[in-house]
Amino acid sequence: MEHWNIGLRSGLPIIPSFQHSIIPAEVMDLRGKKVLVVGLASTGLATVKFLNEQGAIVSASEMKPEEEMKEVLQELREMSISMEWGGHTMKNFLSQDLIILSPGVDPTLEPIRKAVDKGIRVISEMELAYQFIRIPIIAITGTNGKTTTTLLIGEMLKEEGKKVGVGGNVGEPLILFAGGGGQWEILAVEASSFQLEGIEDFRPRCSVLLNITEDHLDRYSKYEDYIEAKIRIFKNQGFEDIAILNQDDPIVMRYEERVRAKKFFFSLREKVEEGASSNGKEIFLKLKGLEETYSLSQSPLKGIHNVENMMAAIIAARLFGSSKEAIERVLNRFRGLEHRLEFVREIEGVSYYNDSKGTNVGSVIKSLQSFQEPVILIAGGKDKMTDLHPLKEWVKSRVRQMILIGEAKERMARELGSLTDTVMAGTIEEAVLLAHRTAKRGEAVLLSPACSSFDMFKDYKERGKAFKEAVQRISTNNQAPSSK
Ligand code: ADP
Repeated sequence: MEHWNIGLRSGLPIIPSFQHSIIPAEVMDLRGKKVLVVGLASTGLATVKFLNEQGAIVSASEMKPEEEMKEVLQELREMSISMEWGGHTMKNFLSQDLIILSPGVDPTLEPIRKAVDKGIRVISEMELAYQFIRIPIIAITGTNGKTTTTLLIGEMLKEEGKKVGVGGNVGEPLILFAGGGGQWEILAVEASSFQLEGIEDFRPRCSVLLNITEDHLDRYSKYEDYIEAKIRIFKNQGFEDIAILNQDDPIVMRYEERVRAKKFFFSLREKVEEGASSNGKEIFLKLKGLEETYSLSQSPLKGIHNVENMMAAIIAARLFGSSKEAIERVLNRFRGLEHRLEFVREIEGVSYYNDSKGTNVGSVIKSLQSFQEPVILIAGGKDKMTDLHPLKEWVKSRVRQMILIGEAKERMARELGSLTDTVMAGTIEEAVLLAHRTAKRGEAVLLSPACSSFDMFKDYKERGKAFKEAVQRISTNNQAPSSK
């Protein structure tokens, strides 16, 4: 059996050698099995192809109507699979040997629950892929920061020359790495709670839990269920695996005892025994006697939460063989992602930021914490019915004016409106114009909605784009009346 060394480039092995990967006891034999794929976006499509190659009798079920899925349809035509569009029928679900859930599919949907009750095996695409993957996996989960941290880890390993695949919600669907031969040596995987709910054997060599705050209460009936889903990332890990945990997060730390893997911590508040800590300007790394300092003075990444993401990424990348120099090069150039505290531009001394991906209370708090200057906050959208209470202190201390949009605006105004000057707007364009009128030189305008976007937009990307376009229109026409 192959072995894989995790260690520092200096030759100092941090962790003794590992098996290449935990090989499931039996390789899943899909030949002749009736397998249903639920959800047909890019991951679902890749899954259908994979199953087809494996000799399964494949069918697929998609909520969206056929007309909206033209591109997928074209590709599916070449395969002989049976399809249902525009909804899920119970009969179809109950006649399968195996059901695979695409990343966005809620496992509590009725036909899925009924299939489980009947004893039909239901797993996530992540679990299916895992059954065929033979290289170490670094899996990243948390309420916020998953995509950023996954990409950071990917970049840091790539910079060292490692053949790293990036998958899950970001990058490629994980199933594309199944049976990938010698092309890849390690994977960085973004793991959502839905995907973790559908695991059986999934055992990452390294798991990262960034934070847990309330989200998706519109989909989970209890906060506890959401937490339990996240904690599943540790379920199959053994003593020889690695877990990277946020020491500052009370919920993460409450579940720390359930983690069997070797633990490394990161913290913005205090020194850690093993892992990383930071004062916001430098990151101090401590791994088995090795101590290193990373300067953040050249990092273009704004926001204290990104320091957390960087700490988690440095620990993982360093343990899996990236050198300090390679990591520093990435820290100095990584600009972050679109729609995550993205600087749009400055107009008359006011900076505009697009944080359309700030879709829950936890991420909005982190975004507000990243500003020293007064903020004009544009928030609201589709209400996830989460507790807004933790936002109060930050709205009070950082937000000079709040402009509310979307379905959630009445509840947000009721619960937060008394804390700062609060106005309502009908559209995002109107909100931007109002913000432009109010903002004074030296202030910031921030779109960070604390809500999802589906009441007014296709997704958070479309919302962010609309915000940026509205900001650009101001700067080019400068037609809005200004009080400055
Ligand atoms: P995810 O993939 O978990 O949704 P992203 O990296 O896409 O995370 O970031 C989503 C939102 O969360 C952004 O608005 C970003 O500003 C915020 N965010 C990023 N990292 C963190 C973190 N470590 N803690 C809290 N909020 C974060």
